[in-house]
Amino acid sequence: MNANDMLPYGLGNPDLVEAQEGYFVDRAIVDDLNKLTDACRKAGFELRIESAYRPFEKQLSIWNRKARGELQLLDANGEPMQRPADEEELMYAILTWSALPGASRHHLGTDIDVVDGGACPPGYEVQLTPAECTGIFAKFHEFLTARIREGAAFGFERVFAPGRGKIRPEGWHIAHLPTSRKRLENFSLATLRSIYENTDIACKRVLLARLDSLAEDYIYPYFV
Ligand SMILES: [Zn+2]
Repeated sequence: MNANDMLPYGLGNPDLVEAQEGYFVDRAIVDDLNKLTDACRKAGFELRIESAYRPFEKQLSIWNRKARGELQLLDANGEPMQRPADEEELMYAILTWSALPGASRHHLGTDIDVVDGGACPPGYEVQLTPAECTGIFAKFHEFLTARIREGAAFGFERVFAPGRGKIRPEGWHIAHLPTSRKRLENFSLATLRSIYENTDIACKRVLLARLDSLAEDYIYPYFV
């Protein structure tokens, strides 16, 4: 297996470009991202990236720290919750807000979380919550929604939409679909399984036991 085959899992060496300070994306989406950013600017919005490419190790670190109680677990309403003692409950609690390592769309380099930088008051800390999408960033998201509906968003679309799979809707997450489809062509659950078998990952036993159903709920619905 060559290194390129490992790209969908956040492994290997993707061809990355720093699109905004500290945020890297796949070189293939840069032109369209610039076009979308320009269109936003002309409409009075500052498309600001809050998250972009994330390698496997980073997602694994989030996963393991949540499992060990080093990062706060949040319930479905976004409220802090107690860490479940049962491994399966713990795994599903983490999945409420964190993608499976090796199956996060942020591994692809084609997906970004965006806000309107121009709408942020000085010192404002972005949360990436549904409330922000209908609040402080509502005008920006309405603009994006209209562009997407008109087919005028240069290949970008929302992925974590209501009615798809079990990941909660994330209005702030957009993907360059023509590129991400290519990146996902060779994704294989068998490869993900072997990655887990060879990784020090929390909840490993139940992850491996439930992998097929996890894929149906948390992975494949978002291969759009
Ligand atoms: Zn995201």
